[in-house]
Amino acid sequence: AKESGKNSFRFYNTELHAIMARKMKLEHELRRAIERNQFKLHYQPKVELRTKRIIGMEALLRWEHPELGVVSPAEFIPVAEESGQIVAIGDWVLERACEQNKSWQDKGFPPLCVSVNVSVRQFQHREFLMSVRSVLQRTGLPAAYLELEITESIMQNVKESTDVLRALRRMGISISIDDFGTGYSSLFIIPKLPVDTIKIDKSFIDDIDDRVQLSMLKTIIDLGLGLNLGVVAEGIESEHQRQVLVAHGCPVGQGYLYSRPVSPEAFEEMLSAAG
Ligand code: C2E
Ligand code: CA
Ligand code: CA
Ligand code: CA
Repeated sequence: AKESGKNSFRFYNTELHAIMARKMKLEHELRRAIERNQFKLHYQPKVELRTKRIIGMEALLRWEHPELGVVSPAEFIPVAEESGQIVAIGDWVLERACEQNKSWQDKGFPPLCVSVNVSVRQFQHREFLMSVRSVLQRTGLPAAYLELEITESIMQNVKESTDVLRALRRMGISISIDDFGTGYSSLFIIPKLPVDTIKIDKSFIDDIDDRVQLSMLKTIIDLGLGLNLGVVAEGIESEHQRQVLVAHGCPVGQGYLYSRPVSPEAFEEMLSAAG
């Protein structure tokens, strides 16, 4: 027993070492990712569930490294967040998404709102408001066509965060709470948040046939609609899920049922086909 205990300790140590080494590698490579042009944004349509009409799109970051291949944002965003690199990366994303959206509008596509994910550390950075303002100025995108997706975790600093959210909304930007229902805050926090939309976490859509999950889903939809907020369901993969959501009054959704996130070129084709 003693021996195997020692072995499992060694194994644990090797594993841990591999995880640390991978993190350090990613952190190191992230430092040059912007200047080496390794980032791209993909776009996933937001769709009106009853009509299937595209009413917006979410920008999602993609990192393609010559050696490491495609690294998932679920892996590198937390690394960038921890090292602080997320601030520069987040600025790049914001600029690229606004620039792209403006260029689609200039080409004559019906104007849509682009949603951009903002991480906690980026949001809490003292220059965040200024960067957003200057991106809108530089790109010429009207604020009404930008939405920021934040998570409940920014509410660790209620006072500061609320002030920043208010300032963003005064500029004409809309705010959506992402992954709603997975954080620790209660439903009753929603009326207090200066936000426009709640985005219901994918886990509720995955478990839509579970009685308890469905009743929570319904409660969240009703609360959102009752407060006159936008309500968006994410991660819709099947027609069945779409129908249940429509039956319970959810107006908007996103998911593989409609489209995966795609390159700007492919998204533009989708827009042309829809028009
Ligand atoms: P998220 O913001 O919750 O984005 C939704 C994720 O679900 C995306 O994964 C999207 O590709 C995926 N997805 C969409 N529809 C479906 C579906 O029907 N089925 C399934 N299984 N998945 C679906 P992705 O692109 O890998 O991004 C993962 C997370 O990384 C995002 O979760 C977000 O938290 C973060 N992220 C991505 N881009 C950015 C960014 O530019 N900035 C920041 N701060 N975070 C980002
Ligand atoms: Ca999101
Ligand atoms: Ca989400
Ligand atoms: Ca998520």
